[in-house]
Amino acid sequence: MQITELNFPDYERVASCVDGDYRGFVAIHSTKLGPAVGGTRFWKYENDEAAVQDLLRLARGMTYKNALAGIPFGGGKSIVLRSDGEIDRERIFRAHGRFVDTFDGRYITAEDVGTSPADMEFVRRETNHVAGLLGKSGDPSPVTGRGVFRALQAAAKHRWGSDDVKGRTVALQGCGNVGYWLASNLHQAGARLVVSDVDPTKVERVIKEFGAFAVAPQEIYSTDADIFAPCALGGIINDETIPKLKVEIVVGGANNQLLEARHGDELTRLGILYAPDYAANSGGMISGCRELLGWEASKSAAKVEEIYDTLLGIFAMAEAEGIPTYKAADRLAEKRLEDV
Ligand code: NAD
Repeated sequence: MQITELNFPDYERVASCVDGDYRGFVAIHSTKLGPAVGGTRFWKYENDEAAVQDLLRLARGMTYKNALAGIPFGGGKSIVLRSDGEIDRERIFRAHGRFVDTFDGRYITAEDVGTSPADMEFVRRETNHVAGLLGKSGDPSPVTGRGVFRALQAAAKHRWGSDDVKGRTVALQGCGNVGYWLASNLHQAGARLVVSDVDPTKVERVIKEFGAFAVAPQEIYSTDADIFAPCALGGIINDETIPKLKVEIVVGGANNQLLEARHGDELTRLGILYAPDYAANSGGMISGCRELLGWEASKSAAKVEEIYDTLLGIFAMAEAEGIPTYKAADRLAEKRLEDV
């Protein structure tokens, strides 16, 4: 195993590792609030520079997400480079576990895009510093979906003076894990659902269970609705989609919804209330506290309800200071970090 330290002054530690055909990176952005927690992304990148850029952005994002959620963890992330051809997942993820172990618990990993609980079992054979294992805290999506619903209620309260979404129309993009649970909460609250997904089986399920109305994937942006809820991909708030939006609120579970920060400014200019993604979708991390901190299910359920107040705080700060909501969320997270 050959480890190389990479120098990024704003980060506590960034390193790369080569071990046979395994190539991985780990970044710890901050351990100010506790050990850095962040998943392992198994992905193909154009080059190492692109992978490291993604790594740094994701690790920093985890610091902010955990700080805003009020949970005692810092931010970190890892990337394992995916190569073409046959993949021996046991060999790759055991090598990753050995690399993670060299961080002595200052970094705890879990699943992320491209990895599964089964991969984390391989990581676990080499290190204790891994969460998201089979049969532990389980699928975080119901909790994430609930948290996004609470963020949506807070946005409704701020925009319309009431968090009752009965009769409101929500255009929901992506009916996968998080989208399904958000749809379930919305249906129970009496909202009307217009949905899209590239996978027809996912769409059929929400039509059948929640009486949703379906549109083609490209039509979701221009849907006549009160709220747009992105629960699929990142970067969907961009120059192409913003002019199509007819909604008053954007709130969803997808990570990195703004393609660039300036798109958050543009939403503000157009009077569209944006609930910052990392504030709205922290339910998955909160759910992980059951496994990481031994929390009872009731404690994580109570914590996820607090997302409502956190969002109200972000909206109030943005209004008082005349700044976009994504900047207000960053400032609140930074304040929590400074207060420690
Ligand atoms: P998922 O894969 O279960 O669901 C994503 C869905 O989006 C899939 O059904 C997919 O077919 C659909 N999709 C893909 N491209 C689409 C398109 N162009 N138009 C419409 N639908 C499209 O993933 P998930 O776990 O539900 O996560 C969704 C988002 O939420 C991701 O951005 C993820 O990073 C984020 N997130 C998830 C959690 C969690 O607890 N699962 C926590 C925090 C953030």
